[in-house]
Amino acid sequence: MKSIDSIYIKGQFVTPHGTERFTLIDPVTEQEAAQVTLADEVDAENAIAAATATYHELAGSSREQRMGWLARLHEVVAAAEEELIAMMIEEYGGPHGISVATSKRAAASFDQARTLLADYPFERQVASARVRMEPLGVVGLITPWNANYGMICSKLAMAIAAGSTAVIKPSELSARQTEVLTRVLHRAEVPAGLFNVLTGRGDVVGAAFVRHPGIAKISFTGSTAVGKSIARGSADTLKRVTLELGGKSPTILLDDADFDKAMPFIAAAATMNSGQACLAGTRLLVPRARLAEVEQAIVAAFLALKVGDPRDPSTRIGPMVSSTQYQRVQAYIRKGIEEGATLLLGGTGLPDGLERGYFVRPTVFSNVRNDMTIAKEEIFGPVLSVIAYDDEEDAIAIANDTIYGLHAYVFSGDLARANRVARRIEAGRVFINGLYDEPMAPFGGFKQSGLGREFGIFGLEEYLEPKTLLGYEQSL
Ligand code: NAD
Repeated sequence: MKSIDSIYIKGQFVTPHGTERFTLIDPVTEQEAAQVTLADEVDAENAIAAATATYHELAGSSREQRMGWLARLHEVVAAAEEELIAMMIEEYGGPHGISVATSKRAAASFDQARTLLADYPFERQVASARVRMEPLGVVGLITPWNANYGMICSKLAMAIAAGSTAVIKPSELSARQTEVLTRVLHRAEVPAGLFNVLTGRGDVVGAAFVRHPGIAKISFTGSTAVGKSIARGSADTLKRVTLELGGKSPTILLDDADFDKAMPFIAAAATMNSGQACLAGTRLLVPRARLAEVEQAIVAAFLALKVGDPRDPSTRIGPMVSSTQYQRVQAYIRKGIEEGATLLLGGTGLPDGLERGYFVRPTVFSNVRNDMTIAKEEIFGPVLSVIAYDDEEDAIAIANDTIYGLHAYVFSGDLARANRVARRIEAGRVFINGLYDEPMAPFGGFKQSGLGREFGIFGLEEYLEPKTLLGYEQSL
């Protein structure tokens, strides 16, 4: 069995001080796949010390230098695409399509940051003042298991573009992907200590980052519950925080939409990344008068999604990441049945034809009320709740009646109407009549879906602090 016994500090793979062993289980076979030695608080301290020393050594690094590091990081990650895809499928059970997309996005994020950096105005005139955008210092990056490479690379790219150094704590469930990615990043030969990577527990290494006075900012992607604890913990040292948290995103199907065209997008939005996606559209809001028609169509669209072996390129839904996640989704399906929702498709247990693995039956509930648990809480599995609305106003009210505000989807035959509805949704991103990707546009949540934004200029500025100079020497 594979054993992972190193962490990455100051450009070197070193044995962690931590001794706790954590077993990784293959989500397809349920067999032990690897053992990892977890980092502890001493390792966190060492990594922060390395990042701090490097930050001071590189202080005043030029735009060109940083563009050079980003170019090299892009090159090595892009060159390792096949290696990365294979490990995401093997460790996480990510279906082939999403594993390819995640790996490409990981590489692209360095190139996007480099492009941004090329003409970002770090100095600008504001009335009589000169304003300089300065790096924050050492940043702590804490990432979840559902898109390990993408989250690590996009946060690291922005931290480097801003002139910071980083300590990174990925999810312990992604230890194998993290090991592969770290070895790939190492090939870029950027200055030692620019980034340091430790796999450890959240409440040990993650919490040590949050407490540490030497860390200026935490960029966190994960659950709303942990995000809140990070915000609370960061208050003591007034750390800057960017929190990318959970969602319960609505998909509004307006009565003038082309239902046949919309349905495959709606099913894909509900089940993306096997349902383990923060932006999944898991509440489908439909005109009450056409509920029966939608029920038939959405079941057909779900039945077209192949569940099973993530290596098969035609598979759309792979296993849940872990037994815990599988049990959590099963509990929500039971809860939906108990609360009186109509089970249209799926249910508890394994999908037909599969005898093991953390696979969930793609599940559609109808006659869901927005106050039911399955409509309120993030399930993080391929489970869709269909909710009927009376008219457009009612649809908007239901869409906004949630603690979350990460994402939304609107389908309509009238683009002007779709835009009007989209403007009234309280969410960080709204997709109209399709699924899109725009990595230069801000990403992040309203309400309890988060704080701050990632990507593009908005994302870069989360890593910068404006400094105002007055009475400055104009010739410099
Ligand atoms: P999680 O909150 O359990 O863990 C995320 C990370 O935080 C992990 O690395 C974990 O070890 C660490 N952590 C746990 N406790 C901590 C603590 N006390 N202090 C510091 N760090 C701690 O989330 P998860 O289960 O890994 O990921 C799934 C969640 O992530 C979902 O809620 C999903 O919606 C969210 N997510 C959000 C986005 C977004 O961009 N908004 C993207 C992907 C995932």
